[in-house]
Amino acid sequence: MSDLILNFNSKFSKKIKNPKNFLGGKGANLSQMGRMGLPVPPGFTISTKVCDIFYKNKKQLNKQLTKEINKQLSQIERETKKKFGDLKNPLLVSVRSGARVSMPGMMDTILNLGLNDKTVMALADKTSNKRFAKDSYRRFIQMYSSVVLGIDSFNFEELIENYKLTKGVLLDTELDEKDWDALISDFKNVVKEKTKKEFPQDVYKQLEGAISAVFLSWQSHRAKVYRKLNHIPDDWGTAVNVQSMVFGNMGDDCATGVVFTRDPSSGKNEIYGEYLINAQGEDVVAGTRTPQHITKKARINSGGKELSMEETMPKVFKQLKKILSTLEKHYKDMQDVEFTVENKKLWMLQTRSGKRTAKSSVKIAVDMVKEKLISRKEAILRIDPNSLDTLLHPTLDEKSEIKVIAKGLPASPGAVSGKVVFSSEEAERLNGMMQNTILVRVETSPEDIHGMHAAKGILTSRGGMTSHAAVVARGMGRPCVSGSSEISIDYENKLFKTDQIQVKEGEIITIDGSTGRIILGEVQTVKPEISGDFSKLMSWADSFRKLKVRTNSETPVDTKAARDFGAEGIGLCRTEHMFFDEDRILSVREMILSKNKNDRNKALAKLLPHQKKDFIEIFKIMNGLPVTVRLLDPPLHEFLPKNEKEVKDVSNSLGLTVTEIESRIGELHEHNPMLGHRGCRLAISFPEIYEMQCRAIFEALIECKNKKIKSIIPEIMIPLVSTEAEIEIMKKLVDRVANQVKAENKTKIDYLVGTMIELPRAAIKAKDIAKHADFFSFGTNDLTQTTFGISRDDSGKFLNDYIENKIFDIDPFISIDEGVGDLIEIATLKGRKQNKKIKLGICGEHGGDPKSINFCSRTGLNYVSCSPYRVPIARLAAAQAQLKK
Ligand code: ADP
Ligand code: MG
Ligand code: MG
Repeated sequence: MSDLILNFNSKFSKKIKNPKNFLGGKGANLSQMGRMGLPVPPGFTISTKVCDIFYKNKKQLNKQLTKEINKQLSQIERETKKKFGDLKNPLLVSVRSGARVSMPGMMDTILNLGLNDKTVMALADKTSNKRFAKDSYRRFIQMYSSVVLGIDSFNFEELIENYKLTKGVLLDTELDEKDWDALISDFKNVVKEKTKKEFPQDVYKQLEGAISAVFLSWQSHRAKVYRKLNHIPDDWGTAVNVQSMVFGNMGDDCATGVVFTRDPSSGKNEIYGEYLINAQGEDVVAGTRTPQHITKKARINSGGKELSMEETMPKVFKQLKKILSTLEKHYKDMQDVEFTVENKKLWMLQTRSGKRTAKSSVKIAVDMVKEKLISRKEAILRIDPNSLDTLLHPTLDEKSEIKVIAKGLPASPGAVSGKVVFSSEEAERLNGMMQNTILVRVETSPEDIHGMHAAKGILTSRGGMTSHAAVVARGMGRPCVSGSSEISIDYENKLFKTDQIQVKEGEIITIDGSTGRIILGEVQTVKPEISGDFSKLMSWADSFRKLKVRTNSETPVDTKAARDFGAEGIGLCRTEHMFFDEDRILSVREMILSKNKNDRNKALAKLLPHQKKDFIEIFKIMNGLPVTVRLLDPPLHEFLPKNEKEVKDVSNSLGLTVTEIESRIGELHEHNPMLGHRGCRLAISFPEIYEMQCRAIFEALIECKNKKIKSIIPEIMIPLVSTEAEIEIMKKLVDRVANQVKAENKTKIDYLVGTMIELPRAAIKAKDIAKHADFFSFGTNDLTQTTFGISRDDSGKFLNDYIENKIFDIDPFISIDEGVGDLIEIATLKGRKQNKKIKLGICGEHGGDPKSINFCSRTGLNYVSCSPYRVPIARLAAAQAQLKK
């Protein structure tokens, strides 16, 4: 048992392989700081192993553990020269949770444990500060009751608010010792009424209760939801830290604060933080009092009058700054630090790698390479590719007219518009109806996590840059404006007000999390571009990666965007998307509904020039880069006329009666179109469709050549192949058309022919198929559907149950499943065996998913292809995959 509970100064901790797994993040870092000689209040960590033992022992601490805990407690007593429960010099402790990764606001901390009716008097005498002692006791009763006894803290808050009203004061700091005495007595009555028991006076019972409560909170609803959203395994468990208290609430030479070693929203290399004088614990993040700046510069920039810590406590500030620099050098990463000042003495209470915006994470990584703190490799590996998503999101179009109604703090960047909602439930409800919302709250709490996820943006009227709302929003990549004191929220009437204007629930506003502006109505946004640090990081990524990155795109706008984001070719150009345009759909319908080949050819002839034009445009943009063109794939019914007018239009132009058209539509009806007459099966029945498309591609090539546009080599892709015969027939078709066009124009044409691998049979028979294919492109959307026999469009209904029952870790349509992966491996091996030079790529949605990209890299594919906005993510993920090999 003795090595399951470790003093912060224990030499043993140094030998532990993965200290965070064993001691939790908080415990590992407290012990690291202790060993570095930084001022950390003495304490010990009860390891995550004990959490497991606790749950196996009917959610109780066994005797041996209790004994060991008491032994460790005596060690703290020796270190602090105080005694737990003593009537002269009582030791007080905090009981703090700490899992492997930080779970903001998920687990609850109890402060001032060890106070009771007697020790509180001792504390008052010892410190000659009765008000402080009483304030600490009431805080303890409040926290202990809410965390351990399950009494909602609003019961206590309400009593304080009423008391202040009666007394006619605004702030807690205006309450004196007698006031707290009265409130303590009221608090204890609440406890008695709710639990039918007195508030526990035995300090050892208090400690046992608190430790158990931390373990129990690992399985709380809030914690479970957070873990699920962040893919944190349930069996990790949490550690518990028991630490002697230091006090930031003992007077005006005391304070508590939170500070980042660099600015978490811009990434600038200057410390950024907030503190409160005469305050304790979570006061800074709770948003009940608005905190002050740490640095003078930040105070001046924000136009604030309340003095910064640099100004009020210059000596402590200097010491803090030095420690921050030491910590950053040790961890080689931006740190998020919690500290307390007790009578001018600085104490470090926590350090961890700081959450930051994507923009700042890129800047910090690039800066740290410049500062020689980390290598380029480390910089690349440090950034979560998915987080780049927020950098690729729009910002407000400054040219459009906007009506700023209020301002707040720029807590998490990005601009979004949505309907105002005042509750998480409403945000979730509207999200279910695909509507964008902005969640507007006085402040947020862990119960709002669902709502913050469902909303597109978050606006709060209270709290600073390190408030719950700000921290969680940055982590989620949701734009957030926090602490806008210019708005006042009226939950009851579902509206918020500024001096000028009232905004009701359901009205649309826009928030700009980069500047803190709140704007009435919807605002145009502009697309982002890659420049500065971002482009530097991308160029480093490119220098490491082997996997090429292409894009799935068929419109000139998307294709241009993808090129700007660094796409090295098109991996999937879906020709049918070109069919939906107004000026073509009628011809498409004629083609589908015509009864004979002659009519069909007429319709196809009308489509040819359109397709040709599209290809020319795309080839031009790609300027020599490879383009994979997929011939017509989807079931024809997708193009059928949907209403009377559309039916009439087709009947007129085809010279058939409405009844004839309707009966033809009936003939085309399929029970399961996804597995029906589609892909190459269409071309087996109607080769003229693919013939037209090939002709369009080849004629476009020739025209490009004539116009001196850099030539490309098209990769003609045949969809939904499952047998060798299919690809063989199709390859002959393509060659035939190529030869015709060559002869007509007396010129040479280069092209490749290949297939999508999207059916299990194709993967298994890859060797035969590869005889006729220059390339394979894994269409993992369909391959996942057909491997599982699960329709992507219907899986939403039961996917959650599958994840809940741990059948799936993650939606297989998001990250490649192992079984589907095996099929890809089989096809890769067999394909290469037949044709050494075969080109292999992936063009499903998975091509933009970092985990799947890692798989593609390991399997040895040549490229991934993804949607334009994911191209930078894929470039980074491909570099990481290579570096992790
Ligand atoms: P969280 O995981 O939510 O950050 P912590 O365990 O860090 O919770 O506790 C929250 C706050 O409580 C800390 O930021 C610190 O201000 C205060 N706190 C915790 N332990 C102590 C202590 N031993 N002395 C003084 N304050 C403490
Ligand atoms: Mg907390
Ligand atoms: Mg903390």
